[in-house]
Amino acid sequence: MEKVIIVGSGCAGLTAAIYAARANLNPLVLEGRQPGGQLSTTTLVENFPGFPEGIDGPQLIMNMHKQAEKFGARFSYAEVADFDLKNKNVRVMADDEWLETQSLIIASGASARYLGLDDEEKLIGHGLTSCATCDGAFYKNVPVCVIGGGDSAAEESLFLTRFASKVYLIHRRDRMRASKIMQERVFANKKIEPIWNTVVTKYISDEKGEMRAVRLRDVRTNEERELEVMCVFVAIGHDPNTQAYKGKLETDPDGYLITRNLAESKHPGVFIAGDVADRVYKQAVTAAGSGCAAALEAEKYLRELES
Ligand code: NAP
Repeated sequence: MEKVIIVGSGCAGLTAAIYAARANLNPLVLEGRQPGGQLSTTTLVENFPGFPEGIDGPQLIMNMHKQAEKFGARFSYAEVADFDLKNKNVRVMADDEWLETQSLIIASGASARYLGLDDEEKLIGHGLTSCATCDGAFYKNVPVCVIGGGDSAAEESLFLTRFASKVYLIHRRDRMRASKIMQERVFANKKIEPIWNTVVTKYISDEKGEMRAVRLRDVRTNEERELEVMCVFVAIGHDPNTQAYKGKLETDPDGYLITRNLAESKHPGVFIAGDVADRVYKQAVTAAGSGCAAALEAEKYLRELES
């Protein structure tokens, strides 16, 4: 029987782990398929307080991991596929094993969204990706494109200019939703060419199955054309990782978990933190804050159980 299991090891999960470990709760962190969460695939983080020069996302995550471990958090790469409530306790199916715990913190984050076009699954890793940091360096001196108009699309485009000969930024509207500072950087970079009011309707691969081009459609004129790119970086947002909790915890229509009082679920002993429940802010620092709140609530819950 565990005291606290934390699902997810992004900013929210690791902050919860630091707080729970410092409270001597010996938490078990189930890291899942994307250890470190979204920060582990990003570049420079300039808005996390305390780092005036910015800090690399993977470094920030490694620091948090080390900090949690120092106070006694334990880590496993197991992925949670199911969950249920057993009397006062909670069970999670971690890989093939049911683990029982007195309290659970769900900080399973969100995963990159794709367009849902033909051959998408086959092309991931062959010129289709959602992670510029992971794959950008493979595309030196060739044209690539980024799809999206948010901060992620801006950040990925800027990062890719280090390698690619040209970065097309393809957006379905005529203006970006990215923050002003990021937009200014994008527009000032000569290697980035925005293509407005345009959607990708087809991926075109070569005889080896590698991305060669995309088919574009102008949404105002319906005109179609082909654009030669060696890699497509999709940056169109994320979906919350809530499959294991569907039908068992409250979710909104898009699948985000619903919280009460910041970090509580409708079940005593089950707490929620980070992007899995955040459809508004989605920032590293808000995820960290809610991870802290979830751990403090779990600690309070366990104290009350004992008394
Ligand atoms: P986002 O802000 O939700 O932007 C997603 C973009 O993709 C939007 O421009 C959207 O178009 C477009 N889009 C969505 N679905 C699409 C589809 N099916 N086809 C084509 N385009 C589609 O997501 P994000 O950029 O990942 O950012 C998420 C959050 O993280 C935001 O709060 C952001 O501020 C934050 N973030 C911050 C930083 C930073 O501060 N440096 C970096 C990364 C992320 P519309 O505009 O038309 O809706």
